[in-house]
Amino acid sequence: MSELTKTRMPLTIPIQGARPWKGIVWHHSASPDGKTRDWDGIVKYHTSYRVDFNIFTKEEFEKRQQNHQGKVFQKPWQAVGYNGGTELIGGVPVFNWGRSLSMVGAHAGVENVSNVFNTDYLGFCCIGNYDAESPSPDLWEFNLQLTRTFMDAFHISRDQIIGHREVYKRLNVEPVKSCPGKSWNMDLFRAEL
Ligand SMILES: [Zn+2]
Repeated sequence: MSELTKTRMPLTIPIQGARPWKGIVWHHSASPDGKTRDWDGIVKYHTSYRVDFNIFTKEEFEKRQQNHQGKVFQKPWQAVGYNGGTELIGGVPVFNWGRSLSMVGAHAGVENVSNVFNTDYLGFCCIGNYDAESPSPDLWEFNLQLTRTFMDAFHISRDQIIGHREVYKRLNVEPVKSCPGKSWNMDLFRAEL
């Protein structure tokens, strides 16, 4: 691909007050991309009381916690874990802003090992399940454009653009996720940036 075709996204990035981001971690939602806006569902999920990855009211959460009904108890986060997300709405790719660029992220921490991919790396989530098939050509190109725009803004090199599953390799621990999907070729994605 020639440099000329490497389009950027016309997006104003609020770099004032932003953390000095050194890289980007891409994720997928591992859920089907619906016809309408799915981003709101992810925001609601991260900002709700959760027991074993299901949303509950505060009262129900507390009751279950007291009675030890459940394994994973998560209180609402301050904001959605990702700095942004992309998805197709009616076949058209869109970008949704998420967590403020001034906050530490909540998307790629490895418990008891490292939080560096939350403190130093932006997190973007592409809605859809890319274990079975790669993002559509339009969405793939859109994600490339978004990534290039953030690389320019924060002077990030392409080797610091990684998939969530690559976090584990970089920390020398066993990968526990295929995120952003087995069919999302990160080497190809980096090569096209
Ligand atoms: Zn992920």
